[in-house]
Amino acid sequence: MSYVGPDFEPPQPRRPRRGPLTVALAALVPGALLGWLVYETVGGSGDGGGSGQATVRSSPPAASSPATEDATAEATDDGKKPDADPTPTASGPLKGKVVVIDPGHNPENFQHPSEINRKVNIGTNWKECDTTGTSTNDGYTEAEFTLDVAHRMRALLEEQGAAVKLTQDGDRPYGPCVDERARIGNEAKADAVVSIHADGSGTGNRGFHVILPGAVHAGSADTRAIVAPSRDLGERVAGRFVAVTGSAPSNYVGDGSGLVTRKDLGGLNLSTVPKVFIECGNMRDSKDAASLTSGAWRQKAAQGISEGIVSFLHG
Ligand code: ZN
Repeated sequence: MSYVGPDFEPPQPRRPRRGPLTVALAALVPGALLGWLVYETVGGSGDGGGSGQATVRSSPPAASSPATEDATAEATDDGKKPDADPTPTASGPLKGKVVVIDPGHNPENFQHPSEINRKVNIGTNWKECDTTGTSTNDGYTEAEFTLDVAHRMRALLEEQGAAVKLTQDGDRPYGPCVDERARIGNEAKADAVVSIHADGSGTGNRGFHVILPGAVHAGSADTRAIVAPSRDLGERVAGRFVAVTGSAPSNYVGDGSGLVTRKDLGGLNLSTVPKVFIECGNMRDSKDAASLTSGAWRQKAAQGISEGIVSFLHG
């Protein structure tokens, strides 16, 4: 079917305020250690925190431990029952940590145009509740993709002992709206939140990028406290995503860094806990689509993102 409106994340023009970021990476250490990477930020004033530094990130080896029970998404609108707070019950390096995974869009959004087009306040302005998301040219939808990757991530992170909550699990008629997506992470007191997406850009535009919150202080939005930790999270996610999937950073946004800072996404503006988005690839490019539609590749994507989260939570 046809898709309503622009995708949630249209290609972002280069931000003149940001200097070029370069990624110098990623030498894998043979053996059990997973690797290391260096992100070097060259110049630029950034968006109010976290720029201009050069940092070395180490990713610890993944360990196995018994999985916890599923901690499903809660919903506070639409008559769904709120979920109990996720309770870590397993041992493992992430015992006591709460991770919220936000699968972008909802497979049923197409059926609810009036609901998802309702405007919600994102601090800086009003924006649509949610969008349909994009799809590959063959009709594999972004919403299917994001849920699949989220499920794979949940399994991996629960193996590490984390309590994992999804903002939606294909179990509600639409949404949640972007403000509720942020609120779910906030109310869970999440140690890290990652919103999963795939982009809908032009043919030939390829690669992934991680979207970081810019410093926003307007209305109910105040991201100033999460800009720096979110950048840390995002750099680690990007680094591990490269290492595990072999995907290159976006060739159309982010100046080759795989990192883009934005102030126009409600899911980031309204977050009070460290949060990033990842656009795992471009569904409209046939080569990227071949990856995105592969279950084996999605497992690598989930592994890479999860390893970035694990690295961040280990500090
Ligand atoms: Zn999306």
